[in-house]
Amino acid sequence: MNMKKYDVVIIGGGPAGSIAAAKLNKTGCSVLILEKSQFPRFVIGESLLPQCMDYLKELDLLDTVSKEGFQVKTGACFFHNERTCEFNFEEQYTKGWDYTYQVKRADFDQALIQAIEDRGVEIEYQATVTNFKGSRDHQCITYTNKNGNQKQVESNFVVDASGFGRVLPRLLDLSTNTTSVPRGAVYSHFSDNNKPNGASNNIYVHSFNENTAWVWSIPFSDETASVGIVGNEEFIHECAKEDGKKFKELITTFPMLEKRFSAAKALMPVKTTMNYAKGVKQLYGDGFVLCGNATEFLDPIFSSGVTLAMASGYKAAELIAEEIQNKSADWEEYSSFVYHGVDVFRSYVNAWYEGTLPSIFFASKINEDYKKQICSVLAGYVWDESNPFVKKHENILDTLAKVISFQN
Ligand SMILES: Cc1cc2nc3c(=O)[nH]c(=O)nc-3n(C[C@H](O)[C@H](O)[C@H](O)COP(=O)(O)OP(=O)(O)OC[C@H]3O[C@@H](n4cnc5c(N)ncnc54)[C@H](O)[C@@H]3O)c2cc1C
Repeated sequence: MNMKKYDVVIIGGGPAGSIAAAKLNKTGCSVLILEKSQFPRFVIGESLLPQCMDYLKELDLLDTVSKEGFQVKTGACFFHNERTCEFNFEEQYTKGWDYTYQVKRADFDQALIQAIEDRGVEIEYQATVTNFKGSRDHQCITYTNKNGNQKQVESNFVVDASGFGRVLPRLLDLSTNTTSVPRGAVYSHFSDNNKPNGASNNIYVHSFNENTAWVWSIPFSDETASVGIVGNEEFIHECAKEDGKKFKELITTFPMLEKRFSAAKALMPVKTTMNYAKGVKQLYGDGFVLCGNATEFLDPIFSSGVTLAMASGYKAAELIAEEIQNKSADWEEYSSFVYHGVDVFRSYVNAWYEGTLPSIFFASKINEDYKKQICSVLAGYVWDESNPFVKKHENILDTLAKVISFQN
């Protein structure tokens, strides 16, 4: 019997895989997603950025998401000691969405994948990809199915959207070490029915230990919240011991969190993700492309992961569709697009941990125009080169921090 051949096989059904599949399906390509887990499945990464709404709208997935009743997110609030810096997406430079959502990823990813399955994308769950043999116009994927049998499937193109699974980077030896300090995170979901008066439903980030560590709290719409700490690996190991004893104690020591979480019930065992920052030598090759976390993942401080996953999935799908229609696609365009987004966020992530960004956020006064321009970066509009805080991302934060320190 002849093996069925698809236009595209996608490894992984998270946001990168779903968005790529939705776009490819819209352009008429046949698509199979091979997904290791049975959905719904837990994954971390629950605070979205407004920019990702563009992809959901473009692919007619906004209704699907809004029907789920997720917590609306209209901004983000950063705290350091007694200081606060609040960003409101209504007050930003780039003309874009002024809201997005905070989501339990099990529900969000399930809603997306279900919607694209309804449109004809084939999905095989509990299918773990173990091997890949590729050439310019013919790819063969080997995977283990839910019964433990080894299977093969052929396609013209393969998208690796396997997230931290990093299937092709591992199989093709494409992984690189990033230069970042190895950091980790410890987190769980908690009951959240004790919010102080005036508390916002947007994400809170509390920075501590001289900006080497920070706590997130992300309320959901059902009186539960995701809470986690990010820091150097050694510190996170310490926080995670004895089912997160120190983690649970620490989170009640911050303003706005103490009463809220001191009697909160943990709704799942405490989880950790260690040494999450990863990079790759190349983003594409003959017959394959990497998207989302399978490319480069920096740090969760600015909630950029899902947005970059959707942006890369969408862009990759556009180019694959061109290639399949026998036009030659410019894959360097893909690399520049992805690396531009990653590099802008890299400047902000580095500036955060070096203390430059906190010195801007927590200055006694910040110029409102600059704040709007920074707000657009934090909303995910990192491809808007008319924004000086995008275009000059490599040095503008340093310059601004120096001006602020001179004024004080
Ligand atoms: C501590 C922490 C906090 C974070 N917080 C945020 C946040 O607030 N906001 C945000 O936007 N991002 C956040 N992120 C990043 C976010 O988790 C990722 O960027 C995002 O999930 C990437 O999406 P993806 O589609 O690339 O991968 P995923 O969502 O991870 O999906 C990959 C899929 O591939 C499947 N898979 C893996 N291996 C295989 C295989 N061998 N065969 C078949 N399938 C396979 C997996 O089961 C999974 O379903 C955070 C990350 C960390 C570490």
